[in-house]
Amino acid sequence: MQFEAIAREAVLLDPNDNLARKQIPNEIRKDPLTGRTSRICHFRELKWKKPDLNKLVAGTESWCPFCPDKVLKVTPCFPEEIFPAGRMKLGNKVLFPNIAPYDQLSAVATLGNRHYIAMTDIEPGRIADGFRLALKYFRHLDEIKHPESVYHLISWNYMPASGSSIIHPHLQVFASSFAPNFLREKLEAAKNYIHKNGSNYWDDLVAAEEANADRFLGEIGRTKWLTVFAPLGAVGDVTAIVGGVQSTLELTDADLNDLATGLTKLMAAYDRMGIYNFNMSFFSGSAEDAHSRFHLIFSPRIYFNPAIGTPDVAALGRMFGESVCMGFPEEIARLLKVEFE
Ligand SMILES: [Zn+2]
Repeated sequence: MQFEAIAREAVLLDPNDNLARKQIPNEIRKDPLTGRTSRICHFRELKWKKPDLNKLVAGTESWCPFCPDKVLKVTPCFPEEIFPAGRMKLGNKVLFPNIAPYDQLSAVATLGNRHYIAMTDIEPGRIADGFRLALKYFRHLDEIKHPESVYHLISWNYMPASGSSIIHPHLQVFASSFAPNFLREKLEAAKNYIHKNGSNYWDDLVAAEEANADRFLGEIGRTKWLTVFAPLGAVGDVTAIVGGVQSTLELTDADLNDLATGLTKLMAAYDRMGIYNFNMSFFSGSAEDAHSRFHLIFSPRIYFNPAIGTPDVAALGRMFGESVCMGFPEEIARLLKVEFE
């Protein structure tokens, strides 16, 4: 397992020091699986000031389609060939087709009745139940032998900087025969890896990270948690890899609890840095992909300039697919690890 980091340095004349020469280090890191690069640069203290979140969300419940007085009136229903009862429920959590679908099958699941829940107040049981409801939908698609029941993916966009347009906590639930770009690239690279090395990339990654410990956070059940060597996010990414599991449909009830518990640990730790937005996605192989390992990625989001709402992805990220991380993943791991001890 090769973790390649190329140290670089910019030299400039510093306006804050009489135009004296100043060296500013940065690093280009290659993902050991795909070779995709990330820039570790733009260093700053990993601490942000949270705005008044109650003020931010005030009034948004009046038009929220996911609040309990509206969710069963304004959200769409599945056609009878998909699910004759229209919507799927688990307690007060509801799953229905996305009114703005991204694919043939594109659903949304609410995480219950509460309109706004601060990141640190989201209970593991609530998240696990959201996952259970999505799994119920996926298993149903599998039972009716739907041709799009191939990759079963859950994403979570929490709060506006993540791309979410609705405050009310909800999951994006996809089943598709088309793997999105990064998932497809990872699956192809992991297939090449297993042919070349005779072992599963993800098993080798966990072994290497656990031995080295710089990025390894801990384990919950058979889920292993670590910061990503070459992350997508400005404040790093965390991945949880589920040992022995290839695809979402193989996750057990205990795995769902463990994944939910780990996510709340990350939320607690990132909250201390002042972070209140994140993306989370499942990465799953198909039932036949022996080279795959189920993993999720948690990626916090920030505003580069909160005063004018500048997002954390500019041309470098959007047009070149090159990500910028403002701290070393090993440093971020130290800040997160306390929650796993
Ligand atoms: Zn709501």
